[in-house]
Amino acid sequence: MEKPELLAPGGSLEKLKTAVMYGADAVYVGGEAFSLRTAAENFSTDELKEGLDFAHTRGKKVYLTANILPHNKDLEAFSEYIDEISPLGFDGILVSDPGMLDIVRRKAPELPIHISTQANNINYGSALFWKGAGASRVVLARELSLEEIAQIHEKTDGLELEAFVHGAMCISYSGRCLLSNYMTGRDSNQGSCAHPCRWNYTLMEQTRPGEFFDIFENERGSFIFNSKDLCMIAHIPELVKSGITSFKIEGRVKTEFYVATVVGAYRREIDKYFENPEGYSFDGSELRELLKVSHRPYSTGFCLGKPDSSGQVYTSSSYIRHYDLIGIVTDYDEETGIMTVSQRNRFFTGEELEIISPGRPFFTQIAKEMKNADGETINVAPHAAMTVTMKADRPVVKGSMLRRGRLPDDWEVELKNVL
Ligand code: SF4
Repeated sequence: MEKPELLAPGGSLEKLKTAVMYGADAVYVGGEAFSLRTAAENFSTDELKEGLDFAHTRGKKVYLTANILPHNKDLEAFSEYIDEISPLGFDGILVSDPGMLDIVRRKAPELPIHISTQANNINYGSALFWKGAGASRVVLARELSLEEIAQIHEKTDGLELEAFVHGAMCISYSGRCLLSNYMTGRDSNQGSCAHPCRWNYTLMEQTRPGEFFDIFENERGSFIFNSKDLCMIAHIPELVKSGITSFKIEGRVKTEFYVATVVGAYRREIDKYFENPEGYSFDGSELRELLKVSHRPYSTGFCLGKPDSSGQVYTSSSYIRHYDLIGIVTDYDEETGIMTVSQRNRFFTGEELEIISPGRPFFTQIAKEMKNADGETINVAPHAAMTVTMKADRPVVKGSMLRRGRLPDDWEVELKNVL
């Protein structure tokens, strides 16, 4: 049984580095053009080079996302773009359009082609079609069950299958949606979705303008299109057995804290399963970690069968957020145990914090012996982006993160939503 690749979003150079440090085997990034995330801080060519170098020296892969649905005007520019990026050494490029695939095949025949989820790959016939057209990997639509994925795996003769295991869902087929285009002029298929599916809707009868009726009986509103987030942390064995070769985490616009936490949780759970597949059981500890990042209510999406109305959130469009990032460790002195922290949120001496680090479990400690950049003792780190030093109870590394928060006492009720 081969260990699957853990594939993480690299929305910026720092997020790429965070994903690699916290255990991703591969990262997907967008260049300045042709990527379906205009809100992500897409990379310049120099940053792409630095990101590739960082990942490759650590034995990790980087895939370039170029999955817009192109119009005529985009094709020539894409052709020039391929000339520019092909010497950089990407490990694959994601496209969703046959015209773009054709350009990659002609101009960069050595570059592995991955077909984006945007191409709505939901059956083995289309997977085989893309294989025949030169693709080495197909990213499956989120709307498939694991049973269907296993059938596609059986019938596609070694084609790599990538599937989302964690992150936001769309109410339309994998983002092929005109809601944003229609309501705001921002095209989700060009990377500019305004997420109107998360908005609060009412019903108005044509001859009674201004009289709004609730569509769903709830005083907080009617969020009729608002999907829950996918979370498959409790199903690593089933994901592996279905033949998925790459476990994909969604979220190029998410924060470094999100990337570190989610990648770390899946890294540990996958490794735990492969250490002892027969004796493995899911104990919920990594779900506990996943509840510490900002998220919508979790569900298993389509993986275990078609979701019913419980796959949507009708009562609110806000994220659930129990924890805040307090700071990121930029330096650590092993002799003195003093860490330098780039602060992100105000915190005080005596507060209980949690510290996460790549490759090890988090620990709890009280903030103490805090000093500002001038070496003066302080009891509060007041502004964001201030640099402070403080004593760490256990060794940390550059890239460790300090967080503060508390899960509800009954957090274990969340287990039923992901089992
Ligand atoms: S509006 Fe919602 S469903 Fe449509 S593409 Fe954007 S996120 Fe997806």
